[in-house]
Amino acid sequence: MTQAAIYQIADENKMRIHQVVNSIFNSCTYVLTRGHETWLVDCGDVDRILPHIEGTLRGVLLTHSHFDHIYGLNHLLTLFPGIAIVTNESGREGLLSDKLNFSRYHEEPFILDSPRNVMVVDNGAIIPLFKDIEATAVYTPGHCPSCVTWIVEDAIFTGDSYIPGVKTVASLPHSDKALAAQSEELIKRLAEQRRIFSGHAPQSRTIIL
Ligand SMILES: [Zn+2]
Repeated sequence: MTQAAIYQIADENKMRIHQVVNSIFNSCTYVLTRGHETWLVDCGDVDRILPHIEGTLRGVLLTHSHFDHIYGLNHLLTLFPGIAIVTNESGREGLLSDKLNFSRYHEEPFILDSPRNVMVVDNGAIIPLFKDIEATAVYTPGHCPSCVTWIVEDAIFTGDSYIPGVKTVASLPHSDKALAAQSEELIKRLAEQRRIFSGHAPQSRTIIL
């Protein structure tokens, strides 16, 4: 076996995370790839996300259902109609209400075209992503009731529940300041040994775990 082949096998086993910064509010979509499979965390500009999808797209883990984290889903579903959109019950409601997801107050109201793709998960649910790699759902309400933080190996996807260096927004309709503070403390503990990938960021980057 050549050195190059060994390198390829080693690389196949690693999960790659590409952070895409979207056009609306600099929200982030994370593209998680390993081998020939891909998962997303949140979904903004599909055109920016597509180049990073490798092989089969399995689904989208949602950090919450505010429109800046979900607005690409209908476009994405036209290209990948079989994918799972994973969220909690409140997130499902947000996907189906332009009032709850706040898109009503922006130029393009968003309501998910295909509710049957939604997979509702409980707190603590474990979702198999890739062979030997799973995602754990941790409810982190406060910013809004649909907030789920996702733990994937050494990575933690916090959405808007905790953005390092930024005060958590807890003044929106359906926000809860006390819950937001509790969730932030929980995330900080969970993040002690992990790398944080939050819901908004200034620039795109690729990380190989
Ligand atoms: Zn938000």
